[in-house]
Amino acid sequence: MTLPAELRADCARCAGLCCIALPFARSADFAVDKPAGTPCTHLQTDFRCGIHDSLRDRGFAGCTVFDCLGAGQKVTQVVFGGRDWRADPGTARDMFAVFPVVRQLHELLAYLAEALELEAARTLHVELRAAYDRVDGLTRGSAEALEACDVGAVRADVAELLRRASELARAGLAGRDHRGADLVGAMLRGAGLRGASLRGAYLIGADLRDADLRTADLVGADLRGADLRGADLTGALFVTQAQLESARGDARTRLPRHLRRPSHWATEA
Ligand code: SF4
Repeated sequence: MTLPAELRADCARCAGLCCIALPFARSADFAVDKPAGTPCTHLQTDFRCGIHDSLRDRGFAGCTVFDCLGAGQKVTQVVFGGRDWRADPGTARDMFAVFPVVRQLHELLAYLAEALELEAARTLHVELRAAYDRVDGLTRGSAEALEACDVGAVRADVAELLRRASELARAGLAGRDHRGADLVGAMLRGAGLRGASLRGAYLIGADLRDADLRTADLVGADLRGADLRGADLTGALFVTQAQLESARGDARTRLPRHLRRPSHWATEA
């Protein structure tokens, strides 16, 4: 699957929104506390990160996991017509309020784009295309309309479509149903999870070494710290780059075609 260009982050066309609009709490992922709407102290005047090349070493692994999926440039260039909060401080409140909304809508667009490429779900393509166009239209609305957007309702509609697409893609594989399961720290080394539904499952710290996750549905699964070394995720459904970045893996981990191997996996042993 090739993610549409508009769903790929283009920091050069953004006003550093993720480094301002979002809050973070001091933890293993962030070295400091930062409230929403406050620029990170590492954000430079050109909207670039001053510690980009050493984020993990400096205690900001959480920043390497985040992917705006193109929401930053959409808000900056489309919703606000190229204005930015520094040159035009009057836009700041609205820009920061709209960014998380567009981020969530772009996430839905990325899932829908993937579903549209599933040959097994071709009977749903008209509905999927209509949903994509509807959500895309929302992302191009005014700041006022976006702030009023009921993202939860939009998400529920899209989730139902994705569930149907997933069932078509996994039909005949007799995959197990682990939707929403608490699998924190589970010992699943070598597990046969082909075609399984792991939608929204909690797999934090799970041992998934050498597991067979081919065509498994991983939408919304929490893979933080999960060990994917040697696992096979070929054709796994609705996996995001952020999920991979939050997990462990190595050169043997097989990935869905549209995702890249996280750079920090090179040091996994
Ligand atoms: S550390 Fe860098 S990437 Fe993370 S919020 Fe600050 S400026 Fe942004």
